[in-house]
Amino acid sequence: MLSRTLTHTTSARAGSIRRMRRRTTAATSGRIFCSTNGCPSFLELDPASGVATCQICGFTRRVG
Ligand SMILES: [Zn+2]
Repeated sequence: MLSRTLTHTTSARAGSIRRMRRRTTAATSGRIFCSTNGCPSFLELDPASGVATCQICGFTRRVG
């Protein structure tokens, strides 16, 4: 019983790590997920000002 519980905990932890890695990959590819108030859009980065803006909810975020 105890070993079963341990196995379940380990697999759940591996799943959360996998999710974090996916997020990091998305960020390095130049796409920033908005997620403000559950907004399902990506921010549009303006290379000149270094500000990323969401076209859906108007959220702005300084990058770099
Ligand atoms: Zn947004």
